[in-house]
Amino acid sequence: MIPPGETIGILGGGQLGRMMAMAAANLGYRVHIYAPEEDSVAAEVCAAFTQAAWDDAKAMRAFAADCAVVTYEFENVPVGPLAAIAPTPLLAPPRALEVGQDRVSEKSMVRDLGGTPAPFATVDSRADLEAAMAEIGTPGILKTRRDGYDGKGQWRIMTPQDAETIDLPDVPLVYEGFVRFFGEFSVILARGADGDIRFWDSAQNVHESGILALSTVPAAPELLEQVPAARTLARKIAEALDYVGVLAVEFFATAEGPIFNEMAPRVHNSGHWTTEGAITSQFENHIRAICGLPLGDTGLAAKGVEMRNIIGDDAQDWAGILSDPANHLHLYGKASIRPGRKMGHVTRLTL
Ligand code: AMP
Repeated sequence: MIPPGETIGILGGGQLGRMMAMAAANLGYRVHIYAPEEDSVAAEVCAAFTQAAWDDAKAMRAFAADCAVVTYEFENVPVGPLAAIAPTPLLAPPRALEVGQDRVSEKSMVRDLGGTPAPFATVDSRADLEAAMAEIGTPGILKTRRDGYDGKGQWRIMTPQDAETIDLPDVPLVYEGFVRFFGEFSVILARGADGDIRFWDSAQNVHESGILALSTVPAAPELLEQVPAARTLARKIAEALDYVGVLAVEFFATAEGPIFNEMAPRVHNSGHWTTEGAITSQFENHIRAICGLPLGDTGLAAKGVEMRNIIGDDAQDWAGILSDPANHLHLYGKASIRPGRKMGHVTRLTL
């Protein structure tokens, strides 16, 4: 067990790191952020900040030497340089990072575990794309295998002619069949160092332009029916990776049952509602798990919860939002507003 008072290192300097750091501080830990960018909204609330490139082994070693355990809030951290963290433990396990970084690896793993991803094929050339469209059909979505998030690095292909207009980037790609879903939901679990697994209620998620807009708990009954099968798969993923920490798995609800979309080996935007809406938040349970502490209760703290993201220049009327006493406002302290950038969220409880 890593006792309160010790230092937790977090790789990545965004809002997920900021919220994890605040949960760690509540438990009496000191937090050290490592991120390449100069302005880190996580570092603002932490005791120490190393601003260095991911491949700066000297800086990474010095950072790890200051920490009792290291975790990450950003799944596109390159895995190679993380060897410099040893002997300090790195949790969730780097294997989860490796799998979760690559859309093909995660879908292949899910298929091997008996789950169902959208039909997919790897694409490294125009000929591969044509073969993938012939095999899987259109419509479909072409995605970068790595580094995509919030709908970035994605091209919707309605007809084979659409594909001709795409200037294929010189990076590994995957073509996915378009899933006809009637809803989207996520399964978020925490797995403790002792293997104890707890699930939060599954949120029903609505995306706009590839970005999460709204999470609602409880999800609609027709989605809830699909949660047990989705949890079984999420549990298998966590156990196969000997996972420690919070793991998020996103699903499409379809007439054929839950279809795996993607996993994130970290706390997740669709779990932000847990800060007020659950007895223990995803952020606190992640910290408890990586420190070897018992997990907290993941039960609901309200009848219902709604979490809305504040994106770009949405909702500047902060006083207006707070004039409704059921609302909780979370702003991430980002200085520059850009379209599509997640600036904060509002959680509303139904008591
Ligand atoms: P992703 O970044 O892969 O999670 O994609 C963002 C959002 O785009 C998803 O939450 C869906 O709303 C939509 N989407 C992604 N892949 C597919 C697919 N294969 N079929 C239908 N919709 C998709």
